Amino acid sequence: MNLQEYQSREFFKEFGIPVVEGAVASNREEALEIAKKIGLPIVLKAQVLVGGRGKAGGVKVAKTEEEVLKLADEILTMEIKGLKVKKLLVAKAVNILREFYVGFTVDRVSKRNVLIVSNAGGVDIEEVAKNTPEKIFKIYIDPIMGLFSYEAKKASQRLTEDMNIAPKIADIIEKLYKVYISLDGNLAEINPLAVVEGNNVLALDSKIVIDDNALFRHPELEALRETTEEEKLELEAKSKGFTYIKLNGNIGCLVNGAGLAMATMDLIKLFGGDPANFLDIGGSSSPEKVASAIEMITRDKNVKAILINIFGGITRCDDVANGLLKALEMTKVDVPIVVRLTGTNEDKAREILKDTPLIYTDSMVDGVTKVVELANAR
Ligand code: GDP
Ligand code: MN
Repeated sequence: MNLQEYQSREFFKEFGIPVVEGAVASNREEALEIAKKIGLPIVLKAQVLVGGRGKAGGVKVAKTEEEVLKLADEILTMEIKGLKVKKLLVAKAVNILREFYVGFTVDRVSKRNVLIVSNAGGVDIEEVAKNTPEKIFKIYIDPIMGLFSYEAKKASQRLTEDMNIAPKIADIIEKLYKVYISLDGNLAEINPLAVVEGNNVLALDSKIVIDDNALFRHPELEALRETTEEEKLELEAKSKGFTYIKLNGNIGCLVNGAGLAMATMDLIKLFGGDPANFLDIGGSSSPEKVASAIEMITRDKNVKAILINIFGGITRCDDVANGLLKALEMTKVDVPIVVRLTGTNEDKAREILKDTPLIYTDSMVDGVTKVVELANAR
């Protein structure tokens, strides 16, 4: 689960990491009120869960009250990488002298948490890592011992030899590690960690991603979740016992098993089609579950045809076929449906689906060819 910047910075504050004064606003009036309270100039920052807001125009400095109103309107009507901006962080603007990157994340190769620091902060750290890896310094952290103070100091000295600021950075690194560990993070990063006048060091951006598998240990964090429309669909599917992820194509897919679902999507692409979703209905699919899955697929108005791809292993194909017919009585569908059903009792399934509007096939290639043809024709 990704936290918004305005949420992450509260945890930073709680653990003693210095951040600038600021608060979150949902409209121009609130933005102005906060700006008046903290004093101009202020920076207005779009609160969306993507990186690179700065480059996309989602971070702007306002020097006058008029500018606050104008820029607040501007940012609140923006869409950044497909996400509508609904909230703004209004924060005190500062004069940046230097920008660093500091972050903790999971390194799957070494199976350790890793501390990553870089002199080249402020910009996309992924770009720096790709093009100038020599500018990135990493320390892999012992999972039992945790981060040692000397490691934080070593990292801080890679960033600067200025002893007016290096100890402050080391202190922030240690605090960031505490945030990361105590929240069960996958990521905790500060980019930029800025040096400002008076040798002060501030976290000007805050980012925390919580490990979803650890969320049960942090029930209070659930309240911080800000779901997009698409995530709402995913959660609804989850509550009904299947996995659904919306995509941008026009072929609805209903498949049993995540691996087969991926293979189905690959094949659709290969045959010139475009999947509208990933849907893994899982094992033991009752007609009710199939009905709600089909209903969810058809809510997407882009869907022009549906491919149901079921491999009957333990599940018997005749049961599946009967279930499908029952499901289609429960939910009305006005796009063609291709059914590929193989495995135990597939002959019986073929008999059951004969003389129904469902287009039956026992071959994945035939099924995909057919559904791509149907979707492209509509
Ligand atoms: P991101 O692009 O989504 O990572 O958003 P950031 O919060 O990191 O902001 C992007 C950039 O805006 C930073 O790297 C800074 O250079 C700049 N920025 C952010 N806050 C301030 C500020 O208070 N003053 C100035 N001058 N620049 C800022
Ligand atoms: Mn940033």
